[in-house]
Amino acid sequence: MTEVTAYIAIGANLGQAQRSVQKAMLALGQLPMTRLIRCSSLYRTAPIASDPSGQAGVPGPDYINAVAAIATGLTALELLLHLQALELAAGRERPFPDAPRTLDLDILLYGNARIDSARLVIPHPRMDQRAFVLVPLAEIAPALVSAAQLAAVAQQAIEKLPPAP
Ligand code: AMP
Repeated sequence: MTEVTAYIAIGANLGQAQRSVQKAMLALGQLPMTRLIRCSSLYRTAPIASDPSGQAGVPGPDYINAVAAIATGLTALELLLHLQALELAAGRERPFPDAPRTLDLDILLYGNARIDSARLVIPHPRMDQRAFVLVPLAEIAPALVSAAQLAAVAQQAIEKLPPAP
């Protein structure tokens, strides 16, 4: 089996958000042909718009965010379908854009793949605009994030949470 290293952004801001993110990390490691390699710390961030404005002031509780590295034999599209099943299982609804969510899973990187299809864009098109992606990604894969990328999102507030007791 050929394994690819993929990086998954995990976010939640409804219900027991920290628990949802921790459960999602474990669930990633239980996907078929997949193992969990590394997980970042959990981070707390204020909600921002998902459109290119990245504007603050979107309603809803703070997010809990993290990034996980997995090694997987799934194709990128198979992985996306599994992530969407996990989101659904966590009770995710999409009543309107940027609505609060119990669980959001995005594929940031899938090996060196560049994919631009109707269903899947990799590298994730908005990852460079988001401190809640770049900061945890830099924690577990420093070679993948440059100082310039981090400087570009440095004005976004992000708080690293202490490890769970
Ligand atoms: P969201 O509501 O932010 O979870 O966006 C989900 C939609 O984005 C789905 O319809 C996916 O098909 C699409 N999508 C495109 N690229 C990606 C990606 N790299 N990771 C996750 N979803 C993606």
